[in-house]
Amino acid sequence: MRTSQYLISSLKEVPKEAAVESHRLMLRAGMIRQIASGVYTWLPTGMRVLSKVKKIVREEMDKTGALEIAMPMVQPAELWKESGRYTKYGPELCRFKDRKENEFALGPTHEEVVTDIARREIKSARQLPMCLYQIQNKFRDEIRPRFGIMRGREFLMKDAYSFHIDKASLEKTYNDMYNAYSNVFTRMGLEFRPVEADTGSIGGNHSHEFQALADAGEDTIAWSDGSSYAANIEMAEALAPTYDREAPKADYSEVATPGCHTVDEAAKALGLPSNQVLKSLIVHGNKNEDGKYELVMICLCGNHELNEVKAIHIDGINDPLEMATEEEINEFTGAHTGSLGPVGFKGRILVDRTADKMSNFACGANKTGFHLINVNWDKDISNYEVFDLRNVEEGDQSPDGKGTLHLRKGIEVGQVFMLGTKYSEAMSATVKDESGKDIPMIMGCYGIGVTRAIAAVIEQHHDDRGIVWPEAIAPFKVAIVAIKLNKSEEVKATAEKLYADLQAQGVDVLFDDRDERPGVMFADIELMGIPHIITVGEKSLKEGSIEYKLRKTGVKENIALAAALETILSKLEK
Ligand code: ATP
Ligand code: MG
Repeated sequence: MRTSQYLISSLKEVPKEAAVESHRLMLRAGMIRQIASGVYTWLPTGMRVLSKVKKIVREEMDKTGALEIAMPMVQPAELWKESGRYTKYGPELCRFKDRKENEFALGPTHEEVVTDIARREIKSARQLPMCLYQIQNKFRDEIRPRFGIMRGREFLMKDAYSFHIDKASLEKTYNDMYNAYSNVFTRMGLEFRPVEADTGSIGGNHSHEFQALADAGEDTIAWSDGSSYAANIEMAEALAPTYDREAPKADYSEVATPGCHTVDEAAKALGLPSNQVLKSLIVHGNKNEDGKYELVMICLCGNHELNEVKAIHIDGINDPLEMATEEEINEFTGAHTGSLGPVGFKGRILVDRTADKMSNFACGANKTGFHLINVNWDKDISNYEVFDLRNVEEGDQSPDGKGTLHLRKGIEVGQVFMLGTKYSEAMSATVKDESGKDIPMIMGCYGIGVTRAIAAVIEQHHDDRGIVWPEAIAPFKVAIVAIKLNKSEEVKATAEKLYADLQAQGVDVLFDDRDERPGVMFADIELMGIPHIITVGEKSLKEGSIEYKLRKTGVKENIALAAALETILSKLEK
């Protein structure tokens, strides 16, 4: 490719709307452009990277024996009603009607459509196991699209779905997919960790996420330094403390804490450390007959954070987790947020395992502007239930009892699920077993965020001059920068020959023939992250050489013109 015939689209200015480095660099390097919130066009440089990533994904999927299909983005609402997700999925599911008033949705994922295909096409247990996959655009009307394509509304996913007669077969495919995912992300140059994960709205009972390690990540993962344990913080169990609760020292008493709204403010006013103050939150439980939510109190040690996923897994807690409104709280307790506590609370009380070990603690008095001190479980509060409700913290013991937990930020680039029969039962996707009985197929599903994974690569591979692509997915492997090619026949002829020779060898090469100032050309090539940069200039040609630079290290060397092609080829990854 010649730059004179290409669309470089680089930007000098740092785009203000971009909050993370990958988004800034994708805009600056001319890879993507936003057309609506969370909806992007892929320009030629972005498209080249995307094509290479899709090829890697396809190769690894094909190796597992999965079969490629293409399902539509437009999905009939009937299928979603059959699975029961039409109402459950929430506003992320973009719904619309056609001119005949038929209801449709834009596919955020394809369990329903693929289960419909399977029930129609798979006739016999002998055809199993079968795994179908596609690389296709998804639409999720995300509440907060951000970080460019990292959390877009329209994005590219590879989704695969497997069908089985028994659990052992599902486990085998799950492992094959797990390994295929590890291969994909390794080939893309990502540093990643597979971690235990929650199954969310997809469902199922066993799942792993693949998390690319990066500070810009929206997820937190917890890993042990004493074992292979690693989990999304949503899933990581906080073990119950092994120490006993201390005995009550006194009866509780009321203290005025005017203007204190947070645990920290109350702790300061009371002269206590925050782990001696109870954090009391009120959330929505089930809706009762008159359409009002039951209010449930969740109590945590003042220095701990609520884990929302653990909370919604408790029976009777509304999913998604919703905090009670100020009006609801005031009507029910007579107090305002900031002065709440379990003493005298008339609803259900859920207490975190660590908070359960607190004694002689302070908590809100359910009277605005007041706290209670020297409060004790059992003595002062009798009806409460104990659960694991908090986020684990750096330094907690690993749930497997081996080692200490550490936290890191991650970008979820893929997830694999053992679904079981959730969809096949709801949609009657059955096959006959040996005795002729209809049994629902057991399913697995497996997603890769293809476009998000590209942003994750950039988060891990960039410097102050731009992107530093791993060679396997670089838009071009080699760039030839010709200095003042219109002033020197020799420069022009040498660059043209090298370009033709590299192309003849099947190398992806960008020939910068713009006759721009060298600074402009180098800036673009480095911003685009092309791994191998060749400079052809009059000065070095006089000495019979051209200059080679490795983008990653910035190290330059002169290579003899006579052996230029072989030398360059020897530097490329096979
Ligand atoms: P998240 O928790 O980040 O919202 P998810 O768990 O809902 O993602 P899955 O249903 O597991 O997503 O989808 C499979 C993959 O698709 C994810 O692992 C992620 O890489 C990618 N993905 C999901 N949502 C988005 C999005 N809004 N933009 C880009 N990629 C996404
Ligand atoms: Mg996921």
